Amino acid sequence: MRGESYMKKPIIGILANVLVTEGGLFPGMTRESVSHDYVQAVIMAGGIPVLLPVISGEENIRGQIEKVDGILLSGGYDINPLKYGEEPYQEIDATFPEIDDHHLMSARIAVELGKPMLGICRGLQVINVAFGGTLYQDLSHFSSNCLKHFQKGQRHVPSHTVELMQDTVLARILGEDAVVTNSFHHQSAKDIAPGFRVNAKAKDGIIEGIEKMDKTFILAVQWHPEMMADKSPEMLPIFRELISAAEKASITAFD
Ligand code: MN
Repeated sequence: MRGESYMKKPIIGILANVLVTEGGLFPGMTRESVSHDYVQAVIMAGGIPVLLPVISGEENIRGQIEKVDGILLSGGYDINPLKYGEEPYQEIDATFPEIDDHHLMSARIAVELGKPMLGICRGLQVINVAFGGTLYQDLSHFSSNCLKHFQKGQRHVPSHTVELMQDTVLARILGEDAVVTNSFHHQSAKDIAPGFRVNAKAKDGIIEGIEKMDKTFILAVQWHPEMMADKSPEMLPIFRELISAAEKASITAFD
């Protein structure tokens, strides 16, 4: 029933990671893992969060994405550089092919099905690589004199400036020329995927946000607004925008 579906809060699928338990009762056991901050941010912004565990097979992944109104690509491990046509350099961290395959395929299927998408940290990198972009495997490859993009201390604390490009979706959402964000990354986007544009940069030139240039809602930021949302409510509109795009997409699907 259309009226009923209109009233329902949109369901946001948060792509999970895999966490290997090191000690405890079941050493070596893997668990599906998503930081509670993502769950909380989706709820605060008016969505219903569900977790999408890492699985394989296009049919299965398509089944996951069909069931949600929008997806949130969370932070996590480095992407295997072979996925964007590079050999691994010294600074690359551990990579997990099954997670990469799930996340990259989810992003492509989401676009195909017209599901809005928000990428955070690794999520930005997944989106860029999924649609043909590349990454700096380490920020030292961009410049030997980068700002500190892996801050020490508490996760919600804003540490560096992010300048927002005029006339972008992100600048409109945040309503500012610049914001101060937290920062927990050692990689960043290098070549931007075709059809996307940069919407945010740190003062050293590191790309801090990208978005799709057509009507599809795909937005991605390199910082962690979900860790800030509780103490810096000005970050919440990023999640609200995903939820409102998901709401619109689910209504259109019923027409
Ligand atoms: Mn940064």
